[in-house]
Amino acid sequence: MIGWQIPNHQSQIPEVPMFSSVLFRKFFLSVLFIVLVFSIAIYFFSVPLIKRSLYRLEKESAQTILDNVYEIVRSEYLSIEAYKESALAGYKRQLKNILILHESFLKNKYLQYKEGLLTEEEAKNSALEETRRFIYGTDDYIWISDYNSVLISHPDPRAHKADYSLVRDKYGKRIVPSVVRIAREKNQGYTSYWWRRLSDEKFVEKLTYSRHFPQWKWVTATGVYIDDVETEVARRKKKMLEELREILQNVKIARTGYMYIFDSKLNMIVHPNPNIENTNFSNRINPVTNQPIGKEMIAVGRNLKPELFYKWDKPDDKGQYIYNKITWVRYFKEFDWYIGSSIYTKELNITSDMLGRRILIVSVVMFLISLGTAIIFLNKFLVPIKKLSNLALKAKEGDLSVRCHAAGNDEIGVLSMAFNSMITQLRNNIEDLDRKVHERTHELLRSNKQLIQEIEERTLAEDALRESEERYRTILENIEDSYYEVDLAGNMIFFNNSLCRHLGYTKDELEGTNFREYMDEINAKKVFQAFHRTFKTGKSAKSFDWKFIKKDGSEAYAEISVSLIKNSEGDAIGFRGIARDVTERKKFEEELAFLAYHDPLTGLYNRKAFLEKLKETLVFAKRYENERSVFYLDLDKFKEVNDMYGHETGDKLLKEVADRLKISVRESDHVCRFGGDEFTIILNNTNDSCPERVALRIMEKISEPYYIDNHKIDFITPSIGISAYPKDGYDVDTLINCADTAMYKAKEGRNQYVCYSKIKTCDS
Ligand code: GH3
Ligand code: MG
Repeated sequence: MIGWQIPNHQSQIPEVPMFSSVLFRKFFLSVLFIVLVFSIAIYFFSVPLIKRSLYRLEKESAQTILDNVYEIVRSEYLSIEAYKESALAGYKRQLKNILILHESFLKNKYLQYKEGLLTEEEAKNSALEETRRFIYGTDDYIWISDYNSVLISHPDPRAHKADYSLVRDKYGKRIVPSVVRIAREKNQGYTSYWWRRLSDEKFVEKLTYSRHFPQWKWVTATGVYIDDVETEVARRKKKMLEELREILQNVKIARTGYMYIFDSKLNMIVHPNPNIENTNFSNRINPVTNQPIGKEMIAVGRNLKPELFYKWDKPDDKGQYIYNKITWVRYFKEFDWYIGSSIYTKELNITSDMLGRRILIVSVVMFLISLGTAIIFLNKFLVPIKKLSNLALKAKEGDLSVRCHAAGNDEIGVLSMAFNSMITQLRNNIEDLDRKVHERTHELLRSNKQLIQEIEERTLAEDALRESEERYRTILENIEDSYYEVDLAGNMIFFNNSLCRHLGYTKDELEGTNFREYMDEINAKKVFQAFHRTFKTGKSAKSFDWKFIKKDGSEAYAEISVSLIKNSEGDAIGFRGIARDVTERKKFEEELAFLAYHDPLTGLYNRKAFLEKLKETLVFAKRYENERSVFYLDLDKFKEVNDMYGHETGDKLLKEVADRLKISVRESDHVCRFGGDEFTIILNNTNDSCPERVALRIMEKISEPYYIDNHKIDFITPSIGISAYPKDGYDVDTLINCADTAMYKAKEGRNQYVCYSKIKTCDS
């Protein structure tokens, strides 16, 4: 029975563990690969970027702190400068007011002199003395100089009435002449110089205001010692420094970075380390470059370099100059300060390192979570598929009782439903098929039997056919006639041994050659036409006498039949036929034809031929109006030859006579044996020819001795009768009769010729 066996028992298929499921492995490895690639990509793409960004941010933050401190210093400077300016402005106003008052006092004295209340001398002296005693503020006073820089009034007795034209201050500046010059030139003005207080020997900066009093050619001046301004400035600066120190000590860049301030002489002004502060570090060397590190910092501060990289030690690892540090410096020109910030390079990376580690942890966690999720999902997804595949395997083994119980309206539910209906359908189909197969098998067995019978019959028929073919083949090879098959182009495709024999070639030599190779052009054309005719009409043709050229060059004749070879579609594909060798028959026919018109002994034309030729000649002679002559020749005493030497010798002599006659006339003339020892000649002589001359030549030739069979025969001569057209007659019979008559005339004397027209004897 052909078909599925439907077992009744349930096949036992082992449960496939999750990790050995091919589908699971494929999905799992794909998910693993994707998640791994993504995690690695995220880590390697983001971490270096974040590291670079954070490094830059840390660096910018360190520089920002430096900028902020620089701005603090600058704003402190500006506030000190503002204070200084406003303090001096106050002093200036005060000095000016005092001298304006004093000028009113002088003007009053001058007025008293002008009004005559005082002499000029008294007014001047009074004014000078009173001015000398006038002290205000903290030992501040007014002094008066004449145009020659002689102090005509000064509270200090050392200066009073002294010539100050050459006296200079602490810094070598001539004090009084400059004051006098400004007052005289501009009527008033401020100058400053360094001078001692009245109560003190210490030189301090003094701001002086002077006014011109031209009435008496005096210059009045008063000044204020501005050391208190400087003191205040110094105090404020000190306070600023303390504040800065406090700020800088609190400033932390990254973890251990710090800020400091030093001047151009490399004195450390502010430093978080009290041991370094207020020291000079010009002898500190950068271990990397072997240059004073202070000078390199100054170069950075002067913007010659953006930053300084160097190696330094650490507070917890003293003397080990192996740690990379970076320093930025800004120069504050007004204070001659360099504000610097230094940091260990590694600290710039601390945040980014920490973030990198966190991203790594996050990536790994994400990776593990993704894998876990993938396993759970795949498990959930693959379990029903796995069950379904197990059932499918059972079904494959032939258990069509299996049913899938996966419910739900998702794709797996649909798949399960489809599987169940497919199995049911399959089971029905198989049962149906089994039934049909059963029926069909019976049918097949029956038809098989029939077939075997048919095969046996066919084998018998084939054997018979083979035998028949064998027989035909044997016949073909043994028949005398040639059998051939050629294609449409005339190439030999099949032939029997007889053809080889007839043409004188071997089978191999003939194979594939063309029929044209074995005949001349005229015959080849004839054969082609025969083939062509057969091809066109489809009818077989027979009995063509074709001339072949054999391998040895000799000619052969064949009578050939031609018929078409057609393929199974009925298309002509070649020709076949039988070729019969008719060479012998042809020769015989030719011989017969020859004998009909020729004398068998001499080969000359016979009487019949003579009569026809003469008839033809007369037709032409009439048409062209030519003359013709007929010779009638009888040998003299021929019978004696027969009698003396025998009949055979007589025959040989007759042959010799024929030959001599042929060479005695022209090619166009016809020589015939009329019978016995009689010969006739048709002389196609034209009008100018002379038959008598020919007759003489013939007589001479025939009369020569004959040497036959060791015999010399010298008595043979001819008797010739000659008739002429149109002179003697117009038709054959007349001309023959005339010639015969003339010959009988010639016989009378023998060895002579007689022209009928003359009937006279011509002696040779
Ligand atoms: P004449 O001079 O009068 O012509 O006498 P002849 O001896 O030549 O004899 P005639 O012409 O009367 O006869 C010819 C003879 O030739 C007669 C015959 O015996 C002989 N003859 C005829 N046919 C042949 C032939 O075919 N062969 C031979 N050998 N003899 C022949
Ligand atoms: Mg004779």
